[in-house]
Amino acid sequence: MQKEDNLKEIISHAKEYGFVFPSSEIYDGLSATYDYGQLGSELKNNIKAYWWKSMVQMHENIVGIDSAIFMHPTTWKASGHVDAFNDPLIDNKDSKKRYRADVLIEDHIEKIRQKIDKEVEKGLKRFGDAFNEAEFRATNPNVLRNAEKIKEIEDRMRETLENNDLEGVYQLIIDLEISCPLSGSKNWTEVRQFNLMFSTELGSVSGESAKIYLRPETAQGIFVNFLNVQKSGRMKIPFGIAQIGKAFRNEIVARQFIFRMREFEQMEMQFFVRPGEELKWYEYWKDIRIKWHKKLGLGDENYRFHDHIKLAHYANAASDIEFDFPMGFKELEGIHSRTDFDLKQHEEFSGKKLQYFDPEINENYVPYVIETSIGLDRMFLAVLSSSYKTEQLENDTERAVLSLPPALAPYKVAIMPLTRKDGLPEKAREIMDALKFDFNCQYDEKDSPGKRYRRQDAIGTPYCVMIDHQTLEDNTVTVRDRDTMKQDRVSVDALHAIIAEKVSLTHLLK
Ligand code: ATP
Repeated sequence: MQKEDNLKEIISHAKEYGFVFPSSEIYDGLSATYDYGQLGSELKNNIKAYWWKSMVQMHENIVGIDSAIFMHPTTWKASGHVDAFNDPLIDNKDSKKRYRADVLIEDHIEKIRQKIDKEVEKGLKRFGDAFNEAEFRATNPNVLRNAEKIKEIEDRMRETLENNDLEGVYQLIIDLEISCPLSGSKNWTEVRQFNLMFSTELGSVSGESAKIYLRPETAQGIFVNFLNVQKSGRMKIPFGIAQIGKAFRNEIVARQFIFRMREFEQMEMQFFVRPGEELKWYEYWKDIRIKWHKKLGLGDENYRFHDHIKLAHYANAASDIEFDFPMGFKELEGIHSRTDFDLKQHEEFSGKKLQYFDPEINENYVPYVIETSIGLDRMFLAVLSSSYKTEQLENDTERAVLSLPPALAPYKVAIMPLTRKDGLPEKAREIMDALKFDFNCQYDEKDSPGKRYRRQDAIGTPYCVMIDHQTLEDNTVTVRDRDTMKQDRVSVDALHAIIAEKVSLTHLLK
């Protein structure tokens, strides 16, 4: 299946089964905004729980907060967002489509990178077991030429973006002969800067002084509370503050489902460290975060690190964890060494000291910060897209299955009486009543067992429990496994332990 078709199928599956709906759909939707349905919100909550437990509850030195979306407007002056939270935009005059100029160039680089990968694949085919990939990459003339090209483009891109040289960015697009993916034309407008923050007015009086912003990241809510948390929680450096919450960005291009939305949710953690130790902690968090992802079992080959070409104004090191989405490898999470930039800026703009007295070295200082920042909606898409499969079955039928990590599945178990009579529904309810305290269960008595299994496969329920006439005699049920489709007869008394073993978050957290 083509990757884009795959995305279309996932979008329609997500809608059909109540995971994700276009927002205000009866009014034809609102671009780049989505609503999570009855199953989507369960999946989202489970992802949040996995993140929160692993970041906050598994680390004695990390605590969580929940700060307001609205913040004093000076926050965004201090953070640099009012002046510098811009994206360079460019329009194609023929298709009238708008693009982010840096993304056009990055996509161009990705194409060259794919050429290199193809060359390496060819080498592997030719030399088989004797193939030495590292040597091949270091010596093959085609690979070297393309790698050199990438470096040149990246250097130019970094230089122009860092110097806010919009004409230079435009010239790069022209020199690379980048064409509009839609119209194929190279008829571009000039490049302009576009601020991504949404603003609104506070109270009933409008005017410059009452202008406030919807936060474009949750991080600043953590920075302004740094001392509150440190003092009230008697936190000792190094320590972290985590938060999950909504963020808003007026994205220029927003047409990749929940990958890029104008209202989205972030899970961020700021880790405060001694100055000079930040790069050690940066490596530490890169390692912890990639392990968190891989533990889910979505496939190690779906992740890669990508170091930033252009560092943000506040960072001295930054890397993205990219995931192989249906649109290809794209940013899922950022790990940034933010230096002491944010706290220092807030000190300057607020006139309040934001320092820490370190008893071990007898010094006052403004801590350095390592940030881990992951988009909850992108994580949702990563989980959904890598779990969605259609499988050919023996009897010439097909099933759509969501092989979600069991701990994240919206329902852990479906309870099914074989028929709607003979006391089977009553027995099924009794079993469900015992399980529902610990597991999200769905009761399902409609249609044939085959149809019911298909429905549960399509929403990723790890187990189906079938109650039949034998259940009434010997208190046993059949348990069907979503992935193997195997059915086992087990005692009702064993059910709780069997389900818990499979769906508990503990496996992921250990
Ligand atoms: P991109 O380069 O894709 O615009 P970014 O580098 O601006 O992303 P950050 O500012 O580092 O993103 O935000 C941290 C995380 O928040 C990202 O890794 C991503 O998962 C998520 N995120 C950012 N913008 C959006 C958005 N518009 N919709 C959904 N998630 C987003």
